[in-house]
Amino acid sequence: MKRKEAIDRITNRQHPWDIVVIGGGATGVATALDAATRGLDVLLVEQSDFGKGTSSRSTKLVHGGVRYLEQGNLTLVRDALRERTMLRRLAPMLVHDLPFFIPCKNAWQRFYFWIGLKLYDLLAGSSGFGKSHSATASMATGLMPTLRPQMHRGGVVYHDGQFDDCRLLIHMARTAASHGACLVNYMTATGLQKDSRGVIQGVELQDRESGANLTVQTRCVINAGGPFSDAVMRLDDASAEPRLAASQGVHIVLPRSFFPGETALIVPRTSDGRVLFMIPWHDRVVIGTTDTPIGHAVLEPTAQQQEIDFLLNTSAEYLTRAPSIQDVTSIFTGVRPLVKNDRSSRTASLSRDHSISVSDSGLVTIRGGKWTTVRKMAEDCVDRSIASAGLQAGSCRTQSISLHAIAGTHQPSVAASSSKAGVFNSPDAVEIANMVAQNPLWNRPITGLPAMRVIDVVWPVRYEMARTVEDVLARRTRWLFLDAAAAIRAAGDVAAILASELDRDESWQRQQVAAFTSVAQHYLNTQYN
Ligand SMILES: Cc1cc2nc3c(=O)[nH]c(=O)nc-3n(C[C@H](O)[C@H](O)[C@H](O)COP(=O)(O)OP(=O)(O)OC[C@H]3O[C@@H](n4cnc5c(N)ncnc54)[C@H](O)[C@@H]3O)c2cc1C
Repeated sequence: MKRKEAIDRITNRQHPWDIVVIGGGATGVATALDAATRGLDVLLVEQSDFGKGTSSRSTKLVHGGVRYLEQGNLTLVRDALRERTMLRRLAPMLVHDLPFFIPCKNAWQRFYFWIGLKLYDLLAGSSGFGKSHSATASMATGLMPTLRPQMHRGGVVYHDGQFDDCRLLIHMARTAASHGACLVNYMTATGLQKDSRGVIQGVELQDRESGANLTVQTRCVINAGGPFSDAVMRLDDASAEPRLAASQGVHIVLPRSFFPGETALIVPRTSDGRVLFMIPWHDRVVIGTTDTPIGHAVLEPTAQQQEIDFLLNTSAEYLTRAPSIQDVTSIFTGVRPLVKNDRSSRTASLSRDHSISVSDSGLVTIRGGKWTTVRKMAEDCVDRSIASAGLQAGSCRTQSISLHAIAGTHQPSVAASSSKAGVFNSPDAVEIANMVAQNPLWNRPITGLPAMRVIDVVWPVRYEMARTVEDVLARRTRWLFLDAAAAIRAAGDVAAILASELDRDESWQRQQVAAFTSVAQHYLNTQYN
C-alpha cells in the first residue's frame, strides 16, 4: 500500500492487466481482493481516497436486513445472514455482535416481532451472533436508561453485527495488496480505449496528485463506481441510459450521554413511517437515517435541514433528554446507488440485491448491494468477468481469506488503548506499539485533539496510503465522523506531520488545512438551526 510503488508498477508494466477495477469503495476493493486471490493481475484505481464515497458513510451494520423479512424475501435475508457470519469470522476484530431493541406498543406487537425475529435466528443458523428474546419494559429500561418509558411496553431484542466501515475497507485493501493487487488512490479513470472491433482494451487515467496522464492495457474493466457508475458507463457509451436513482441518507452523531448502554434501538416505523436507528459507536451515538431522493450523486453530499429536523425530532420522542442541534458533534451523509429496473438482455441479475451487466464493448458494471454482501457481490462479479473476458483463473477463495492481520495474531495493546480505544482500534496494534516504543515522540498527543497521537498519522501514511489531512481524520481514524469541530482543531498538527512524512512544504500544509476545513463544514452543526 505505497502509492509511489503502485505508480511505478503501473508505468513499468509491459503487458496487459487481467482486470482494471474502477472505484475504491467496498464493491471495488472486495472485487480486487477476490480477483487477486484467484491469481489474476488486478489494478484498482480510485479517483479520491479509498472509501471517500458511500462506503465510509454507512450505518455500520453487518446485517441480514430484518425489514426484508416483512416483505417475505427470505432468500435475500438468508444470503445476507450467511455473509454476516462469514465477515465476522474473517475479520473478528473489526466486526462485533450488537444487540438491538425494538420497542413495542402492546403484547400483540411484541409477539409479531418475536415470531419474525425467531425466523431471523433460524435463517442465521449457528452464526455465533446472540439469539433474539422478548424484553419487558423494565428490562428495556435497564438496557437503555434514557429510553422514554412512555414510548414502549417492552419489546424484542435481536442481534446483528456492527463494524467500522472504513477500517474494514482499508484492511480489505491491504489484504488485496498482500495477494498482489495494485491499488492506487487519487487516480481517475478518464476514458476507455477500444480496438477496431469496439472491444475495450485500455483505460486512460489521470493522476490527481501529479496531473500526469497514463494509459494502461487490460483484458477486462470492471465498473465499481457506486453512485457514479452511470458516469463510468458513459465513458464506454456516451448515450448510455442512466441506471441509478440516487437517494441520500443522513446520520447525526451525539455524545453517548444521550443514549448510554451497549444496546442499539431500532424504531421500525416512526410517526411518519420511516425506520430509525440509534447506535452506540465509540463514545458517541449515531442516529439515522433518512432516505431523500436527490438529483445526482456528489462525492461530498450535504444534509438537508428537514433531514436533520426529522432525526432530532424523532430522537426527542424516544429519549428522556431531547437533543438540540448544538449537541450534534458530527453529521454525515451518504448516497445510496439504487438500481432502476434493468431491461438489457445481456444483464444477469445474479441476486435480487445487486445486478451485474456486461456492455457490448465488454465493460462489466456492478451496481447496488450493500456493505454486508460485498464479498458475494465480488465473487459474482469476478465469475462474470472471467466468463465474459475469457480469463484463466481459479475459483473464488474469499470465503477462507482472513482479512489483514486479524485478531489472535495481533492483540490490542498500548497503541490501541492509549489512542482513544476504538477510534484507531487497529488489528495492527502490536506493530504500532513497537513503532512507538522505538520512537517515543510518536506517542505525543495531537494538538487540538489529545486523544489522537502522532503515530495515528504516521502509520496510515506509511502503510495505508493516506495522502491528505482528510484521509487521516475522516477515514484512517474516524474523527471527522465523531467530532467535526475537534477534527478541524487537529488539522494543523496533522498537516505538519503529514508534510514531514511526505516531504511537502509549508504552502502544501496551509492548502491541506484549508481544504480539510472546507470539507468539514458539511459535518458541522453550525449551518443548521
Ligand atoms: C446512508 C447509508 C447507510 C448504509 N448503511 C449500511 C449498513 O449499515 N450496512 C450495509 O451493509 N450497507 C449499508 N449501506 C450500503 C453500503 O454502504 C453501500 O452499498 C456500499 O458502501 C456501496 O459501495 P460501492 O463501492 O458500491 O460505492 P462507493 O463506496 O461510493 O464507491 C465507489 C467509488 O468509485 C469511485 N469512482 C467513481 N468514478 C470513478 C472514476 N472515474 N475513476 C476512479 N474512481 C471512481 C468513487 O470515488 C467512489 O469512491 C448504506 C448506504 C447508505 C447510503
